[in-house]
Amino acid sequence: MNDPVGPLPASWLGELKALLGPGGYLDAAADRAPFETDFRALYHGDTPLVALPDSTARVAELVRWCAAHRVAIVPQGGNTSYCGGATPRPGGRELVLSLRRMHRIRALDPAGDAMTAEAGCVLAGLQEAAAAAGRLLPLSLGSEGSCTLGGVISTNAGGTAVLRYGMMRALVLGLEVVLPDGRVLDQLTALAKDNTGYDLKQLFIGAEGTLGVVTAACLRLHPRPQSTVTAFAAVPDPAAALALLARLRGAAGHALSTFELLPRVALELVLRHVPGTREPLAGVQPWYVLVEFGLHEPEAAARERVEATLAAAIAAGEISDVVLAATLAQRDALWRLREEIPFAQRREGVSLKHDIAVAVQRVPEFIAAGAAAIASLVPGARLVTYGHLGDGSLHFNVSAGAGDDGASLRAAENTVRQAVHGLVARCRGSISAEHGIGQLKVAELERYEDPVALAVMRDLKRALDPLGIMNPGKVLAS
Ligand SMILES: Cc1cc2nc3c(=O)[nH]c(=O)nc-3n(C[C@H](O)[C@H](O)[C@H](O)COP(=O)(O)OP(=O)(O)OC[C@H]3O[C@@H](n4cnc5c(N)ncnc54)[C@H](O)[C@@H]3O)c2cc1C
Repeated sequence: MNDPVGPLPASWLGELKALLGPGGYLDAAADRAPFETDFRALYHGDTPLVALPDSTARVAELVRWCAAHRVAIVPQGGNTSYCGGATPRPGGRELVLSLRRMHRIRALDPAGDAMTAEAGCVLAGLQEAAAAAGRLLPLSLGSEGSCTLGGVISTNAGGTAVLRYGMMRALVLGLEVVLPDGRVLDQLTALAKDNTGYDLKQLFIGAEGTLGVVTAACLRLHPRPQSTVTAFAAVPDPAAALALLARLRGAAGHALSTFELLPRVALELVLRHVPGTREPLAGVQPWYVLVEFGLHEPEAAARERVEATLAAAIAAGEISDVVLAATLAQRDALWRLREEIPFAQRREGVSLKHDIAVAVQRVPEFIAAGAAAIASLVPGARLVTYGHLGDGSLHFNVSAGAGDDGASLRAAENTVRQAVHGLVARCRGSISAEHGIGQLKVAELERYEDPVALAVMRDLKRALDPLGIMNPGKVLAS
């Protein structure tokens, strides 16, 4: 799309307001402001109007109008994107389309393990609705109190239970999407089997709003485990953690739902900055893992089984110390040690973040090579790498040294990024395991993606959105 400049004509804004109706938009500057900046405050844009449609039909009408007038649309859910995916660009010509008023659960079928809900539903609310019906919606992430169904689908979100339940893609049975020309693609079924041609819904999962607007989805629910066992263990190094992962998967199979790795430095940041947290184990250990099992057997039998496996891991030297949560409060306390790392890192000062994945077996080698690269590029900086070892997905973050104002780390940002992503490429890994491309990694995708894959992505974009009105400048350069 050509990028025209200047504000949208006042008559167009009038048409949009009439189309959206009372309560269907925000136009005052103060009301628009929260929609114009991303969660990390990396990007600031301008929108003349935030559209708040309350039905699929209204979204379709709006998109048709935008196509006719070549006006760009930026879909937005909870605005928790880590890569500026939901933020309009400067210039004041891109409409933010917030799905927040579309928050109805249209159907919940516990016997069929399916729930159909609108895109603006907040994830935590959907988890609660599933739980009230005796079922589990297993997607779980730190932003679940504000991120929305449309957002987690459009970013193919991951989180802490991917090991057992897969990414968001694995939880989507059916989808309703408004296409960039305003047609409604209705694939809102709960079918587990459907091999009628191309599986079109997959195109929109993880597309970051660049191919259409997700308005509703049918989700796959799961049985709730009868008992949950959570353990926090000290391990000598990432290779031992990997051996432990193999042991636990061998013993527990899919009952192992979480396997998170964290280094001592991450734990220390949490203990320093998060009130109420305490050392989970005696002594100082170099690495830790947080593991969780969801078992379909009574609590006592489940604990006994897990304890026996952990005892064998201690005997094999994979674990040096371990604690099991005995109460819900203890479980929450152990989880906080993992979940508060991003907050603690922010409080500590400047840090560079990389959201990467490599094959699980290559994680120890990657961490060792990455640590060596960081040490030579920014001496004194601290590597705070932690995350979902069970998925090969790491937050490969670098914090400034203690007491350092971070200026030299900031100055080295590009060099560090190239070193880390170059290493990822050599391992045939991913430069975006969870958070997507958004605005942040458009150039990185160009640099590291296979040229054939990039060309196919562009072909798809042109075929579905020939006018380039859907979230321009995100994922692919416009
Ligand atoms: C504290 C915190 C922890 C996080 N932890 C994780 C984590 O563990 N794993 C993980 O994967 N992510 C994580 N994230 C990132 C983020 O929460 C997820 O990407 C989430 O899926 C975004 O949902 P949202 O509703 O906020 O979407 P937004 O931020 O509003 O939008 C994200 C993208 O989706 C598009 N979009 C939104 N709604 C629609 C729609 N209805 N139709 C079409 N496109 C749409 C937007 O245009 C944008 O490109 C975390 C973020 C925070 C702040």
